[in-house]
Amino acid sequence: MNHESTSFNPKTWVSPEPLDTGSEAPAGQAETGKGGKTVWLGVGLALLIVLGALYLFWPTGTDAGEAVSAAIPDVPAESTEPAPPATATRIIQVQGMNELGASLQTMNVPLGDAYVIAEEAVAALGADAPMLVKVELGDTQTEPFVQSLVAELDNGTAVRLVRNAEGNYDRENLLETATTKVRSVEGTIEHNTFYVSAVAAGMPDSLVSEFTKIFSFDYNFQTEVGIGADFSATWEEQVTESGRIVGIPKLLTVTLETPSKSRTYYSFVPPDERETQWFNAQGTGNVRSLMQTPVDGARITSKFGYRTHPISKVQKKHRGVDFAAPTGTPIYASGDATVTFRAMAGGAGNLVKLDHGEGMETKYMHLNQFAAGLTVGQPVRQGDIIGYVGTTGGSTGPHLHYEIWIDGVDTDPLTFETSEQKSLSGDALAMFRAHRDNLVSAGEAMAAR
Ligand SMILES: [Zn+2]
Repeated sequence: MNHESTSFNPKTWVSPEPLDTGSEAPAGQAETGKGGKTVWLGVGLALLIVLGALYLFWPTGTDAGEAVSAAIPDVPAESTEPAPPATATRIIQVQGMNELGASLQTMNVPLGDAYVIAEEAVAALGADAPMLVKVELGDTQTEPFVQSLVAELDNGTAVRLVRNAEGNYDRENLLETATTKVRSVEGTIEHNTFYVSAVAAGMPDSLVSEFTKIFSFDYNFQTEVGIGADFSATWEEQVTESGRIVGIPKLLTVTLETPSKSRTYYSFVPPDERETQWFNAQGTGNVRSLMQTPVDGARITSKFGYRTHPISKVQKKHRGVDFAAPTGTPIYASGDATVTFRAMAGGAGNLVKLDHGEGMETKYMHLNQFAAGLTVGQPVRQGDIIGYVGTTGGSTGPHLHYEIWIDGVDTDPLTFETSEQKSLSGDALAMFRAHRDNLVSAGEAMAAR
């Protein structure tokens, strides 16, 4: 009889008794044992009955379990007085078949069994990555064997091996059930960059770039969004029963407020569309026909218009805007377009020209590299990467020189606006309103917690 192993829930990594001791959860202990250290969690069934408690020991001398050891007396690993437990639970962190096999051997599992089990577990996981392993040992007094073993990778992929009546192992692939949780964040820009402020407020760093991109039609992040601007966002993420976040979080609502304006957008997939788009409360899209700033995190170093050359004192028109950014920073197509030029072109350096139709053209100069596979005649979507910032041609440092031409006239990208924002209507608008109200109440429910 061994109610320890039969009550074990592999999804939680925690058997009920250790949790009830009031100590840290064993999963947490195992995490602190990273870097080759091993946490041994020995559960003595006999002692459980006699003392009503478990005992722990750490043969490798790790300090990972200090919080627990204060409450529970240490018992030497080799102690045979009182009688050692007939079963034991061990939690270890290992990587690869050989490490797992060797660890099982240190639990006195026979060499042959240890490596067969290790091979089976690693093959089932399909990756030689670090894993958390929980082992239930049987008959630890005379001939220790693995009663069951659960091995889990960081991404949640897990396998359970259970010894059957024939002494072989039945295999079961496990995946933790993940549920969708809505989270929210509110903050004020207090640091030099929006990125630092957003992450400090609790926004997952993987969402910051998308957040800024959503507002790239309304705000220039360098000139308009500074210290004191307020931002908020809600997003959903997949959380497993053991509290791990898996997959990629997804933004639901975003708000950005500066002294001069405030914008809120809601994610929505319009009927007959496949990709998420962003709409304000009235159902008007965030996208204008061309982006003001087709590059992330850039600093404007030279504006559009006439300027006097610092040395020659000659007035010359600057036909675009210069955005300084590190070499290699991605440059986006500022609108849906066809590539009309992609080559080295004298002082312009590596140059891309895009034709957006209706007389609109954009030019991107001094690129370090073109996007892989970019060819003349190719259609691109707004936001596609077309190349990378560089300093080729007549340029003194890495920057993007960006021009907008309307009907053959050079136009200031920073003041250029079109009213071609997409607005929802009819059924799509009704669907959007219901969806928007759901998002708002989900965010409010989250904030109320
Ligand atoms: Zn320039």
